[in-house]
Amino acid sequence: MGFESFLGNPHAVHTLRQMLANDRVPGALIFSGLEGVGKKTLALMFAKAANCERRKSGGDDFCGECPRCRKVEGMIAASREDLERRREIKDAARRVEGLVYFDVQLIEPLTRFILVEQVRRLRSAAFSHPFELPHNVFIIDSAQSIHWQATDLLLKVLEEPPPTATFILICPNASELRATIRSRCQRVRFTVVADEIIARLVGEGKAGGPPSADGKELAIRLADGSIARAKTLDLDDYRRRRQPWLDYLGALAIEPGAGPPDWDKIFEATRTLGRDRGEFEAALRVGYALAHDLIHSLLGRPERITNLDLLARLQAWSTRLGFERISRLKEGLDEAYRLQVRNTNPQMGLDALAVGAVETAPGARAGPIR
Ligand SMILES: [Zn+2]
Repeated sequence: MGFESFLGNPHAVHTLRQMLANDRVPGALIFSGLEGVGKKTLALMFAKAANCERRKSGGDDFCGECPRCRKVEGMIAASREDLERRREIKDAARRVEGLVYFDVQLIEPLTRFILVEQVRRLRSAAFSHPFELPHNVFIIDSAQSIHWQATDLLLKVLEEPPPTATFILICPNASELRATIRSRCQRVRFTVVADEIIARLVGEGKAGGPPSADGKELAIRLADGSIARAKTLDLDDYRRRRQPWLDYLGALAIEPGAGPPDWDKIFEATRTLGRDRGEFEAALRVGYALAHDLIHSLLGRPERITNLDLLARLQAWSTRLGFERISRLKEGLDEAYRLQVRNTNPQMGLDALAVGAVETAPGARAGPIR
């Protein structure tokens, strides 16, 4: 096992391997890019390569099996456990008590922030000689969350990092980091993972079981360039969440002159959607994706449609609904979201939207509402 096993972002991998081959491992790196494309995974691989005992001078890979590679793995696992345990401590001020950092350490926010004490601990670990490994690697995830009171301290460390340490700052967008910090770090950018790679994961059944042909295309669209999403995707679950929306839209988008819509079906669908508070946000995301799909369908942009397995239906519905009612649908979703945030029944927003959408249909007769 080595860098070969990393999926996607060949440019980022190449950059790191060059650094290793030239023995020019920088003191500070920024890994920036979307969620779920493997930034943390590659940082961990880099930590192994920087320490692997089978890597000779000029080598650019790691074995994953030698005692040092395994030690790195163990240290990361231990830091994950430690982070989890600390986040469960109710009194946030006590979460930093007795921090101990290893030679390779994962640092994440313990509250909304990465706290001053965490950065202080980091500095003292960086400036002590590595304990068990030749090279310290400190991986700071969600680096944009470093508390402002800690940024000066971190900056001092990054200005003159010890030769035995590398700091890897991970964030979605490097512009969220202070310019002074950015200027001390070498940047490695991550992009979305190519569809062919996602397709391979989907084909291997690592993305929600071996799907049918249209299921495969749907899975690729839903993963949207993220390996993490592709690996955790459950297509059956997605289709279950999506069904009430299809009932809702199908009942709403009727042929002109076809009489009143099937209100029973509409209200049954909104009841299903609003039933589980805990799941409502996930349900809303599906609704938003469908609303966007309707707009893309109307504008003739099938390449941007997520629910590609529904293309024919989306085309029929979008033509019947028209741009104005689709926009109202999106506004209705925003309203349902607001109601949910205010702890009011979000179903109300969707019901009101359905009634409004029928009333505004050109030449529509709303029909009796039971
Ligand atoms: Zn090794």
